[in-house]
Parts: sequence; structure tokens; C-alpha cells
Amino acid sequence: MSISLAGKKALVTGGTRGIGRGIVLALAAAGADVVTCYRSEGEHVESLARELKELPGEHHLVRADVSVPADIDRLIEECQVRLGGLDIVVNNAGVISHVPFDKLEAGEWARVLDTNLTAAYLVIQKSLPLFGDSASVINVGSRVATVGIPLRAHYTAAKAGLAGLTRSLCKELGPRGIRINVVAPGVIATEAELTPEILAKYESMTALRRLGRTDEIAGAVLFLASDLSGYITGETINVDGGI
Ligand code: NDP
Repeated sequence: MSISLAGKKALVTGGTRGIGRGIVLALAAAGADVVTCYRSEGEHVESLARELKELPGEHHLVRADVSVPADIDRLIEECQVRLGGLDIVVNNAGVISHVPFDKLEAGEWARVLDTNLTAAYLVIQKSLPLFGDSASVINVGSRVATVGIPLRAHYTAAKAGLAGLTRSLCKELGPRGIRINVVAPGVIATEAELTPEILAKYESMTALRRLGRTDEIAGAVLFLASDLSGYITGETINVDGGI
């Protein structure tokens, strides 16, 4: 069964690399018009623009840092002006950080919380006026939110907060036809270089004995963005190869 999002308007934060890029390309390939944002310029931005030109629909790349509230205002304004509204919002932008807890400083705590959690709160709240009778919000969480992991107390707290935000908003926004869910990746192969030892360790932790691919996260996002999941809200889908 193929998924069509023809006529839908989508915002994906952090879409120029990694998982976000896979989500942008999958939504566009399914027929949605997509706005995405990023922080750093480079060939990865230009190559995504080229790839999107080959796909149907209207797509826009906006330089905006979601840890800066004024940038979020500008990003949402771009969605209104360029797309004329929103049906799908994917809060994907995130930063990972590894710090022993006794060395974790307030600035690093704030940086990780601002990008991984506060940005989602602001993006959802500011998107509300752009939604019609129905909408789907998908928050990219993490499997670590439920299992925990050392050296990432701040990241884990942010992702667990995202799950809590999702469960609360599903109740508050459901009556307005807005569904909101989490996709929680396990370990996904992105551009981050892993040593052979760490790679083998991660692979051995999964039932499928391999890392996930970005298109496999995008598949879960596509499902949650589409009417196929029309009665699902407040849920977390773990996409982790059976960790
Ligand atoms: P990457 O670092 O590969 O890509 C992150 C993307 O988000 C980039 O396009 C980056 O843009 C953008 N981004 C980061 N911070 C900001 C910001 N403040 N404002 C705007 N854009 C931003 O990350 P992944 O693809 O690995 O991760 C994507 C999401 O998936 C994150 O939320 C992460 O926590 C989650 N996740 C990832 C896992 C994995 O194994 N990879 C596992 C579990 C969860 P730029 O390059 O310009 O900075």
C-alpha cells in the first residue's frame, strides 16, 4: 500500500542532514509540499535543494535555528506565506551531547533542552493558527527516553520531556482534530562516524543485528502523517530494530 500526501503541507525542522533529510525526501516523494530548516550552509543544503527539484510539489529550505525563538517565528511565517498553512509538523531538529553528569554545566543543559524540547513546544504552539480541521504533529524522540543512557542525562531528560509534551497535548489538541505522536529511533546510521568497536556493540544490541536507516524512520513518520494512522494519537512508535 503506498501513501499519498498530495495536497498536504508539511514543516520538518532540521531537514538538511541525517534523519530529517530522509523525512523531507519521503514526504516530498509522497506528494506533500515541504518547508524545512537548518543552521549551517554547505553542499549538503545545495544537494538537498537539487534533489527536491526532481520531486513534485513546492519545497523551501529556510535557514533558521530552532533554539532561537525569533527564528521560529520567521520559520512559521515562511510556512504561512509560502505554503498558505500546515497539515503536518515534524519536530526533528536535535543535538546529541555526551557529558558526565558531575561535569554537566547549565549552559550545555540549556543548549540541549532548548533544541530538543523547547523548540518543539514553540513550533507546535506557533503552528496552531496555520492548521485547518485536522493536522498531524510528529515529534522525533529517542529510545533512550525510556531506557536511559549514561553521559546523556540532559538529552534523555529532553527526549522524555518530548514524550510527556506529546501525551498531554494529545488530550488538549485532540478535540481540534490535531493528532500528535512520537517516533523514537534506536541507533540510526547517519553521517556520525562510529568506530568499528562501537558499531559492533550497537549492532549486537538489536534483535535485527544492524543499525537502522534514515528511510526506516521516515517510513514511520509517513505513516503517522497520513490518514492510515487517523485514529492514533498520543503514541510512541519505537523504531529500534528490537533493542
Ligand atoms: P544530525 O546531526 O545528523 O542532523 C541534524 C539536523 O538537524 C541537521 O540538518 C541540523 O542542521 C539540524 N539542526 C540541529 N540543530 C538545529 C537547530 N538548532 N536549528 C535548526 N536545525 C538544527 O542528527 P540525526 O539525524 O542523527 O538526528 C535527528 C533527530 O533524531 C534528533 O532529534 C535526534 O535526537 C534523533 N535521534 C537520532 C538518533 C540516531 O541514531 N541518529 C537516535 C535517536 C534519536 P545543521 O547541519 O545546519 O546543524
